[in-house]
Amino acid sequence: MTIGATLRATFSPDIGIDLGTANTVVYSHDAGILVSEPSVVAYRTSDDAIIAVGKAAKELDGRTPGRIRVVRPLRGGTISDFRGAHTLVKTLVDRAMSARPRVAPRVIACVPGCATDIECKAVEEAIRAAGPRTTEFVPQAVAAAVGAGLDITGTRPAMVIDIGGGTTEIAVLTLCGVVAMSSIKVGGDTFDTAIVNRLRHEYFGIGPLTAERLKIERGYAGRAPGCEPYVVAGTDMQQLRPGKRAVDETLVAEAMRDGIDRIARAVWAILEATPPDLVGELMEAGIVLTGGGALIPGLAGEIAARTNVPTTVADDPLGCVARGAGEILASPDVLERLRPHADRLTRWYQSLRIGMRESYSR
Ligand code: ADP
Ligand code: MG
Repeated sequence: MTIGATLRATFSPDIGIDLGTANTVVYSHDAGILVSEPSVVAYRTSDDAIIAVGKAAKELDGRTPGRIRVVRPLRGGTISDFRGAHTLVKTLVDRAMSARPRVAPRVIACVPGCATDIECKAVEEAIRAAGPRTTEFVPQAVAAAVGAGLDITGTRPAMVIDIGGGTTEIAVLTLCGVVAMSSIKVGGDTFDTAIVNRLRHEYFGIGPLTAERLKIERGYAGRAPGCEPYVVAGTDMQQLRPGKRAVDETLVAEAMRDGIDRIARAVWAILEATPPDLVGELMEAGIVLTGGGALIPGLAGEIAARTNVPTTVADDPLGCVARGAGEILASPDVLERLRPHADRLTRWYQSLRIGMRESYSR
């Protein structure tokens, strides 16, 4: 390395970006989490200008429906709004860099598993607008495993389930390679929608933000923790006026059950696709949960009971992907070993999207 390169490496803020469907997190190896904001942008309806990004945009949600449109550009795991995604990435990277020395960073980004090449390109372009030196991509599940503290370089298998807002990513990894991986469109949003629908059956209308609150306050998997009913405000659809309703925890869990079943089925499919010897080792290595969904009480126990594999929740599950990405970037060896997989992984994900599952092994 030349002196210039060494100096640059010393001052260069290498950053990992987790472009999640619900939250975007920016992490640097030496400064920790720099930015963590909702993946949301707000448009002014009259001229389609973007007036707020991140937390500020989420606060506008549903407040002024006619004049301001609040969009989640990555909702569902695909980029539905390229301009919004572009502005989101650029703004949050700028925000993360504002407190750092003005040296172009190296960036590693994680996109939702089912993102297509075109979507990766769009993200890359957005990142490029923020002026990095280099940009790399790594699948979210791989970053999640590293961020959760799992060793993906050894022969012992590491299994991770990352439950985000729009997607759940499941992977078994060894020797910096992917043994089996899948990405399904089930996540926190699925639960929120199910809770809205379940309450509508009781003739009570609530919005997605209230449903999310209910999920966080009263959601669980497995055995009921025995909490008091949670009171929410909304529209009483029988009397056609605003009202309050005390919602039982079992009603919330009932609404969430289908989504949890779908996640469990996807986990079984991955275990089925993993060679039996590795599955045997997984019984010792265990499964780690990351992403916001990992915080659902009882979920780890439920997955452990259904798969017979011990399951734990990672520390700071919401930061795992960004942390993992940053740490991968900080260890050139791991990055180098992961790189040959990147292209094949994109193709693998695409085949998933169009529904032709090929078997994928190292
Ligand atoms: P993404 O990676 O897709 O951006 P995150 O990993 O940031 O998603 O997780 C966001 C999701 O996790 C949201 O759907 C949110 O409602 C959910 N979530 C956050 N905290 C909790 C909690 N304590 N219990 C249940 N769900 C939660
Ligand atoms: Mg995520």
